[in-house]
Amino acid sequence: MSIEQDVSDLVKILALKNAVEHDGKAQAESVISKLLGSRPDKRGTIKTLIPEIRAIVQSINLMPLSDQKSLLDKMAPEETAKKPVEETGVRLPPLEGAVMGQVVTRFPPEPNGYPHIGHAKAAIIDEEYARMYQGKLILRFDDTNPLKEKLEYYDAIKEGLDWLGVKPDIVKNTSDDISLIQQYGRKLVELDGAYVCTCSQETMHDLRAKGVACECRRDPSEALTRLEKLFNGSYEQNQAIIRFKGDMADLNTAMRDPALFRIIEGQHPKLGSKIRVWPTYDFAAPIEDSLDGVTHAMRTKEYELRNALYFAILDRLDLRKPTMIEFSRLEFEGVPVSKRKIRPLIDDGTIKDWDDPRLPTLSAFRRRGFVPEAIRKFVISLGITLAETKPPFEALEAYNRKIIDPLSMRLFFVKDPVELYVQEAADLDVVLKNHPTDTALGSRTVKASDRFYVSGDDAAGLKINDEIRLIELYNVKITRIECQEGKLSLTATPAGSEIKQSMPKIQWVSKQDIFDLRVLIPKQLYVGEQYNTNSLEVVKGVAESFVSGFKPGQVVQFVRFGFCRIDGNNTAIFTHR
Ligand SMILES: [Zn+2]
Repeated sequence: MSIEQDVSDLVKILALKNAVEHDGKAQAESVISKLLGSRPDKRGTIKTLIPEIRAIVQSINLMPLSDQKSLLDKMAPEETAKKPVEETGVRLPPLEGAVMGQVVTRFPPEPNGYPHIGHAKAAIIDEEYARMYQGKLILRFDDTNPLKEKLEYYDAIKEGLDWLGVKPDIVKNTSDDISLIQQYGRKLVELDGAYVCTCSQETMHDLRAKGVACECRRDPSEALTRLEKLFNGSYEQNQAIIRFKGDMADLNTAMRDPALFRIIEGQHPKLGSKIRVWPTYDFAAPIEDSLDGVTHAMRTKEYELRNALYFAILDRLDLRKPTMIEFSRLEFEGVPVSKRKIRPLIDDGTIKDWDDPRLPTLSAFRRRGFVPEAIRKFVISLGITLAETKPPFEALEAYNRKIIDPLSMRLFFVKDPVELYVQEAADLDVVLKNHPTDTALGSRTVKASDRFYVSGDDAAGLKINDEIRLIELYNVKITRIECQEGKLSLTATPAGSEIKQSMPKIQWVSKQDIFDLRVLIPKQLYVGEQYNTNSLEVVKGVAESFVSGFKPGQVVQFVRFGFCRIDGNNTAIFTHR
């Protein structure tokens, strides 16, 4: 049944082409007929290839449209010569002061962890605006703290953006410009806009609380001497800091002589140990934004107080100022993005890895069955409001459902299975449609005899003489309910096939056609400030054996249960209802 490489490549190209022409959604049926058109030799064996073709089509349909286009371009450049029509849909509001062709935005993550839904929001907004104005998007790794940053995180962020379909025009690191940033730091001290402070942390803490300046800022010539000592290695870590000359009594605490450079001894993932004097985010961000030509710098509202510092630094250095745009941070109730709340759970083994489906990381969303296009639409629907309220998770689910519903096969899974014996039931080959409306998703044949499994919760609600409909099969009437050693079992007799409104209609699995499956259902990770010990429900049950043919990544809808993504090892992850 395995498909040859050349055929599978052709199917991929046909599916990509079909998807690009139809707003990202390829139809398996037309891919199959196109395949037979160009490979008539496959007519005889097409039936055996159909499941794999469907799997290829589904995997392509789950990709963002932009990725479909670039993959098609890579696999069959001749096909993309004619450009498809621009997709329509939700859009962001116009950007203040934006000029067509001249907008430059940047997404500046610190490579100190795995990308999460908050990063997705920022990256998508930055990219959408760059595209809306035919401008440029810069991905800039804000890597100026060697103690926190790792190569692994640069890669994880790139992978996350790739999956989201975010394509930066320029990729760079703040550390690439370290000497330039240091030069601006020196210049600011020379201009008496900053000074080298050798006070202890405690002293500064006290002075700041009192609104009083320290001795270090008095004498500008002493500042220059200290500046040389700072850069020639005469100070140890924590002995000297370059501080902005703000106002220790400013109502905005961010202006009370904040640190601009500090000595950090450590191995930087890109530069090793050759740099000791590192800028803080507060200094590096405005310098980089200005020099990179960023026209619209976007960041979350929690930096609000630091906007004054951002502009004051550019003012004193006489550098061009970008427009600052703020938006609210994206986080869901009970699913904190803060590493402070997640890392301890990983360190103590409560959570195995960063792609655990309970986490807000992009790899977790992916593993759970969310598609990038849904995240994008959801983020755009939130816009750039400053609303502090957390959006309901159901809103993201709704976008995802709309995309995966037409693509997902409807299959049967019963949890906590209870045996149902239908006396005198005939042996049947039952043909079940894989999708109620999309015939292109095909059908499957299930061998049914007189033994079935139904869900424990359905069984628990039944009484003698109840009539139920086994979906797509026939009706049965319950004649006996037994419970032996805590194990429930049902006996029934056939009761016709006329569908009655009042009848419970339940899914079933034929006893000779089962596939053991456990489903992981992620719940809120935190309840208030506490880790939720019930955050991962494990449901055991049986699915149709048809499921055994799916590879990890396949998204299905289990009837009356919900959407799930196959995870491998007889495990699926619950996506949503
Ligand atoms: Zn001082």
